[in-house]
Amino acid sequence: MLYGVIMAEPRRLLLNKGCLNCGSSFTNKSGLSYKRFEKQKYCSRQCRSKYLTKSANDRFDEKYIPEPNSGCWIWLGCYNSGGYGQIKTDTGMTYAHRFSYERFIGTIPAKYEIDHRCKNVACVNPNHLEAVTKLENNRRSNSKSAKQARQTHCINGHELFGSNLYLRKDGRRACRKCMYIRNKKRWLRSRQLQSR
Ligand SMILES: [Zn+2]
Ligand SMILES: [Zn+2]
Ligand SMILES: [Zn+2]
Repeated sequence: MLYGVIMAEPRRLLLNKGCLNCGSSFTNKSGLSYKRFEKQKYCSRQCRSKYLTKSANDRFDEKYIPEPNSGCWIWLGCYNSGGYGQIKTDTGMTYAHRFSYERFIGTIPAKYEIDHRCKNVACVNPNHLEAVTKLENNRRSNSKSAKQARQTHCINGHELFGSNLYLRKDGRRACRKCMYIRNKKRWLRSRQLQSR
């Protein structure tokens, strides 16, 4: 996301990256090896120190985009393997959604977990977050609606994605192929009844 390869030859010189601090693109002027340049995040030393001394709040504000339909704030920073956003704070790495909750809502009580009411674990919108007990969190993630929200395919194995995904008015997802098959069956049945 931070860089794009413009051309293959010679790639170590033409690799273009965006500075994490100022956003301007920069090339490998000093001729670092491809691997070393890949790790470069800033256009200059000044940008590096500026970025590293930025407060966690400032970094948080730059690392999400609001999603207009759901209202979710999609995290753009790094993620852990579970899909949860992470942010570096003065005390070390923490979850971005927990950081958001503590910043905008308040301290998370001991033994409480933060549940995404929108079921989007990449979301850091404090209005979508709720502090719940571990038991409640487990109960929610095992509920019927939560299971349905995690489904990637319908019961007949069609992928719930792109043009095949139909969103009902109540927010539930449906499979277009199955809807088409159901409608066709209904139509055939009504024709059979008429012809009798
Ligand atoms: Zn810069
Ligand atoms: Zn959300
Ligand atoms: Zn289907």
